[in-house]
Amino acid sequence: MRPTIENWNIYQSEQQVAIAAVTAAACLCESVRSQKLSFVLKKADMSPVTIADFASQSIICRSLAQAFPNDPIIAEEDAAFLQQPAASAVLEQVCQLIPQATPANVLDWVGQGNGQIASRYWTLDPIDGTKGFLRGDQYAIALALVEQGEVKLGVMACPALSLNQQTPPGVLFVAVRGQGTNMMSLQGTQARPIQVNHSDDIRRLCRIESVESAHSDRAVQLALDRILGWTQPPKSMDSQAKYGMVAKGEADLYLRIPLPHLSACRENIWDHATGAILVEEAGGKVSDLAGKPLDFSVSSQLINNSGIVASNGLVHEAVLAAIAQVKA
Ligand code: AMP
Ligand code: MG
Repeated sequence: MRPTIENWNIYQSEQQVAIAAVTAAACLCESVRSQKLSFVLKKADMSPVTIADFASQSIICRSLAQAFPNDPIIAEEDAAFLQQPAASAVLEQVCQLIPQATPANVLDWVGQGNGQIASRYWTLDPIDGTKGFLRGDQYAIALALVEQGEVKLGVMACPALSLNQQTPPGVLFVAVRGQGTNMMSLQGTQARPIQVNHSDDIRRLCRIESVESAHSDRAVQLALDRILGWTQPPKSMDSQAKYGMVAKGEADLYLRIPLPHLSACRENIWDHATGAILVEEAGGKVSDLAGKPLDFSVSSQLINNSGIVASNGLVHEAVLAAIAQVKA
């Protein structure tokens, strides 16, 4: 959407702080990755967490808490986890990554991210796609501002995504509600508005999905292949970089269908808030499998939604109808 006189300068300071913090975190994560400093622990759900996840959360929460001290932040990593004796070496390593930081500072900054839902809050995934980060593939640093349950601002760094063939990898996406989505290099150059792909050819649409097969129900996807005549396999990619691909018109559809035995599990807000506004402001549509808007007003999980459909908008209703047919 084009900016209007009324909305062109709203969220200016939030945008500046968020862009600076996310860019600094992306730089830090890439430095950890290039030096192969992979201090990894396993969380209770057996997913990996690294020194870069905690360092990224520390520096972003430090900046937000300084600039907007009244805003709660709901971020993925837990300060209590970092306080366990088994994590003491990781805490030491995180301190080394942030100039002049003490263990107490790091625990305080990470803990700033353990806030509660409020009428206005931030949500952060300090490294979305930690498995991709460790594998040398895609990952994202994703930050969003939510007011009255609606995402108003999204800033996402994808350090391994290419802007174009001439520039080294590293993309920053920025969306403000009512002002469209912009994409630029991580150095802040070549900023330009982006738009979803305007194709309604349902049989030939380009799909994108998680690398992790456990994150979406392939049986339902196969049934959709039959109904909608899809013959090409989807691209696979880690993290909310998938939303970036839909927003910049390089994919038309990103589906996330809960597995039957996990259907009571809900998606985390930090895995979707940023990506959702990037797609919507680029002209696309995001809903759950029943077509309901994602509800960011209630909990750190999307408890009022099941699954995710993010699309270029033009194919959205046809995909929802096919999902309803499969699930009937
Ligand atoms: P992606 O790379 O798109 O699969 O997203 C990675 C995110 O998936 C992680 O940040 C986790 O929060 C989330 N995740 C972990 N397990 C599951 C699961 N079983 N179903 C859906 N999402 C999950
Ligand atoms: Mg994540």
